[in-house]
Parts: sequence; structure tokens; C-alpha cells
Amino acid sequence: MSRWIIGAKKDFKSGLWCALALMTLLTAGLSAAPLTILLDAGHGGKDPGAVHHGVYESRVNLAIVKEVGRRLQSYGYRVAYTRQSNIYLSPSQRASMAKLYQRALVVSVHCNGSRYSSSRGVETFTCNGYGSTSHTLATKIQKRLVKLGLFKNRGVKRGNFAVLRQHQHPSALVECGFLSNSYDRAKLKSSTYQKRIAEAITQGIRDTALKK
Ligand SMILES: [Zn+2]
Repeated sequence: MSRWIIGAKKDFKSGLWCALALMTLLTAGLSAAPLTILLDAGHGGKDPGAVHHGVYESRVNLAIVKEVGRRLQSYGYRVAYTRQSNIYLSPSQRASMAKLYQRALVVSVHCNGSRYSSSRGVETFTCNGYGSTSHTLATKIQKRLVKLGLFKNRGVKRGNFAVLRQHQHPSALVECGFLSNSYDRAKLKSSTYQKRIAEAITQGIRDTALKK
């Protein structure tokens, strides 16, 4: 009888230690959740975005995003995409995907369009709130894009986009140039320049220096 009680006590004690060890491990796991870079190619499907002279924004965005993803993976980043084909997703659906990750950085890629064909250049948007990381991310990406020497610098701006606003992760939205401007469009539709733009965005994300 007494041996049974001692044994039960021992079991209880070791069970308690196991539970404590498990909780410690879980807590450590939570604080060190891996970083996912969620890449969002703007528009798609029934929503082509800006279309000028046969160049579709949705296609250009996707081509750039895929190049960014490949590059980030080669640097050891975990990469996820909101879309990898020509499908329609609402802004809320895109933001919901961001919520699936415990730790993420969201980069949405777009091209601009304007009724004024003289409007040109690159600009990066950040959202109100969610700390300084969003601003750092937007600033680093913009800096790298401007450094390419291809686009006029329109600066870092604040934008109220759902894909930036409806989740808790640091995020930025890049407008890679104007499809409505012949100079920018010539760059944006070229796969060679798309790769250079993708490289700049990739380096901007790396410059943000978040722990993987
Ligand atoms: Zn767009």
C-alpha cells in the first residue's frame, strides 16, 4: 500500500515536471516562431488592375512576386504567396492569409496607373500603426528600387490598404512604376527589368534584417 502511494507520488511529481518542461518548450517555441515572408501579387482573375497598351498589371505583379520568392528562398527565407496563378482574391481574403502566420512580413506588389501619362516613378506604401518595422520595410524597399536608377523616386507614403491594415504583421505595398507611362511601362513589361525590380525588393526585405 505505502509503496503504491510512494509510486503514485513519484508519478505525480514526474508528470508535473513533464508538464512544466512542455510548457517551457511551448513558450520558447512561441517566442521563436519562424518568420514567413508573405508575398502578395496584387489583383488577378476578374480584376486585372491597371491595363495599358496590352500590359496587364496582374501579370506583371505575379511575375515580379515569383522572382522575389525564388530569391528569398535562396537566402533561406520561408516564403508564402497569396496567389501563384491568375486567380481573383479579395483584399480581405489576402489579409486573412496573413493571419494564418504567427510571425510574418507582408509585401504586396503592384504597378501604378494614372489618366495622366506623364505620371511616373516608384512609391512604397506603409500603413498607420504596427510599429516601426513597417516603415523600415517600406523605406528599405523604396531605397533599393530607387538605387536601380530606373524610376523616379515618389517616396514612402502612408496608405489605407486592407492588405496592410487587416492583420497584425509589418507590411508594405510597392507600386513598381506606372503602366500608364511609356517609359515605366517599357521597363515593367520586360522580364529582364522585372528581375532587377525583384532583386531590389528582395534586398529591401533583407535590409529590414528581421530574425528568420
Ligand atoms: Zn494595383
